[in-house]
This record gives sequence, structure tokens and C-alpha cells, in this order.
Amino acid sequence: MCRHIAYLGEPLAPRELLVHPPHGLYRQSWAPRTQRHGTVNVDGFGLGWYADGDEIPARYRRAGPVWADAAFADLARVIRTRALLAAVRSATEGCAAGESAAAPFTAGRWLFSHNGAVAGWPGKLDALAALLPPAELLELEARTDSALLWALALHRLRAGADLGEALAGTVADVVAHTTGRLNLLLTDGRSLAATTWGDTLHHRTLPGLGTVVASEPFDDAPGWTAVPDGSLLLAGPGGVTVRRLPGRD
Ligand code: GLN
Repeated sequence: MCRHIAYLGEPLAPRELLVHPPHGLYRQSWAPRTQRHGTVNVDGFGLGWYADGDEIPARYRRAGPVWADAAFADLARVIRTRALLAAVRSATEGCAAGESAAAPFTAGRWLFSHNGAVAGWPGKLDALAALLPPAELLELEARTDSALLWALALHRLRAGADLGEALAGTVADVVAHTTGRLNLLLTDGRSLAATTWGDTLHHRTLPGLGTVVASEPFDDAPGWTAVPDGSLLLAGPGGVTVRRLPGRD
């Protein structure tokens, strides 16, 4: 299971959320605290962020552990952003290695990440894959279950779904055909959506700054709220809402 985090709010340097907190994403790459599957997250990492005045995010990814990358430390220090999505990866057996398999995945103004695994990947997912036109399958960002989930979500976004509809619909698509752990995270830089389906997720308001949604709390300060399993979380300028997803007992 990988770990991911997203932020919306006032401009800040990514290192304030990812590196400086005692249990931030950086440390979660070797010492996650609530991860239910896997032990370390060393199979790649990525940071996507939005610059003021540009709705298309920038993305920086590498195939190895985040602590081994000097450029990441520089970027995390000098960037200022109102919205970011970052992830560290623990590759699932049967999924491709390399930078292209590290989240966030992106298209247009969207950034996407997945914590979990889809049962039956890759050989038993014909019916799930058949939901996508062949051209969209050919465009998969990587030969991984997460990239397939991103293609399914993107298909819905391009058809006009909002962030929450795209993620809830993707979970519904998967569970109609197989099972899996499906903690998804999606942002367009103005709002974000996340699902819980098999692993942990928390959110917290940082006073005077904004909203953080993360696989696990990055410190022991009060204010973190655990999101129940089987939920869809939406966050934006109006705050955070959480509702039940159908089909999760
Ligand atoms: N299955 C995905 C991958 O291999 C996500 C892995 C994870 O959550 N550990 O990239």
C-alpha cells in the first residue's frame, strides 16, 4: 500500500507538509505508522502541484526512494503552491516498476493517486478493461492496476463527471467485476475527492492555511479526523464533507 497526501489552501512550500512534519510523507517512505499492507514505500514517489495563474499542474516523479533524491529536497523548499498531491509507492506484485508507475498520474488539470491493489490484476480483468475504448487502454500511463483505475476515472471526468462522481463511479466499476483496496485521491487544484476502501485516510484543517487529506496523520497534533472505510470525501473552498459509498459493509 502506498501513502498519499493532498493539500488545498494558502500558498506554502511542499516541505512544510511533506518533509518537516515528524511523520510526513517523506518519513512515511521508510516508517509509515498506519499502513495495512507492505512495510516501506521505496518504489518511487511523485509530487504534483499547481502554480498560480496556471491550471495545468507540474509533476516531478522518480523511480527510487524519495530520500535518495536531492532535487526533491530543493523543489520542496522553493516551490510555493495552493494545491498539491504527492505519493510514495510500494509496488504491488505483478505491477510494472519505474517512474511512469509512480503517482501522481495526470491529464489536463487533474492529478490522481491510488493506495491499494486490484484483485485479479492483470490477467482476470477483461470485463473491467472492456469498459474502456481500446485507444484509452493504449494510453495507460503504466502497466499497473493504479494506471487502469486512473484511466477509468479519467474516462468519467472526460464525460463530464465531477471529481466525486469520477471516483465513486470508478470504485463501483471495480467492485462490479472484482475486489480490491481502492483508496483513491483526485484533485483539479481547486477541490479534491478521495475514497476509503481498504486502507486509512485522515483529514485536518490547518488554521489560517487550508485542508490536508492524507493516508495517515503527519504528526500527533489534535485536529486529525479519521475517515471511515467505505467513504467518499470531498474538500473545497466550502470545507470537507464525507458520505458513505454504496456496497461497503
Ligand atoms: N498497486 C499499486 C502499484 O503497484 C499501488 C501500490 C500501493 O498502494 N502500494 O503501484
